[in-house]
Amino acid sequence: MMALVPRSLAFDLTRAEVLATGNVVPDPARCVQCGICSYNCPLGLDVRAYAWRGEPIADAHCLTCGQCVARCPRGALRFAPTDAQKRGGC
Ligand code: SF4
Ligand code: SF4
Repeated sequence: MMALVPRSLAFDLTRAEVLATGNVVPDPARCVQCGICSYNCPLGLDVRAYAWRGEPIADAHCLTCGQCVARCPRGALRFAPTDAQKRGGC
């Protein structure tokens, strides 16, 4: 029998899991250095600089609120587990 989990709840659980285990990870090849991500970060983190370097947002202050991911016009940001997290190191 199929589990009766509403689609929206299933999505929320997946999103919550990613937020709990992931970081914002940039794709520098897609980034045009517009700075919209940094402008919309409520903590003022320099997301654009991370995207320039192609490094995950490793700042412990990151709320994983997703504002930068949602606002990037190039789709250059996503949530993903980092290598350390994949190894169970964090
Ligand atoms: S909003 Fe997207 S394209 Fe613009 S600087 Fe940030 S990561 Fe790069
Ligand atoms: S997820 Fe939120 S707090 Fe973290 S860098 Fe993006 S906008 Fe800033």
